[in-house]
Amino acid sequence: MRTYQCHVCKGSGAVHNPMRTLWQRCPMCEGAGQIQATPGKKPAWYTLKIDVPPSGSQPGSIQINGRKDFELQLLMATYTDPRLLVTIQDFSGGEYWTISPNQNYGIGIVPITLIAGTAQLPFPIRPSYRIPKNNAVNFVATDQSGAPNTLNMVMYGLSILEDEAQQAA
Ligand SMILES: [Zn+2]
Repeated sequence: MRTYQCHVCKGSGAVHNPMRTLWQRCPMCEGAGQIQATPGKKPAWYTLKIDVPPSGSQPGSIQINGRKDFELQLLMATYTDPRLLVTIQDFSGGEYWTISPNQNYGIGIVPITLIAGTAQLPFPIRPSYRIPKNNAVNFVATDQSGAPNTLNMVMYGLSILEDEAQQAA
């Protein structure tokens, strides 16, 4: 957790008492001289549209904001036909991490209806999944309906503003 200098005691950890006769431990930072940064969080949506060819596969990617981590909480989708498989992977840790449920390790293909809900009844990611800033989330959609299938994928979560606060300090 990042910290910044306490604005009450200017980092010394001590302040005068009200009579200015004695020093006392700083009540703001409890004597530490530093305060833990509280990251700001704002609702954020990331969206992706993939036009999947009949009985084919099509990749897609969502790029996370370059300055704000994203805490994924809900998945939502609309599609032409529910006979659609989807794989969701995050590469931010240096190796592919499959966010969607696994049928086989490292593949993670599931029907879209088992990974994404609607705005009225979204699928919750529990616990929430934090994706570092400036990373991409990769999708592969595979049609099984035999007709063109348009997938609209929405990731809802929180944009973490910690770095902005840090830069302003
Ligand atoms: Zn202090």
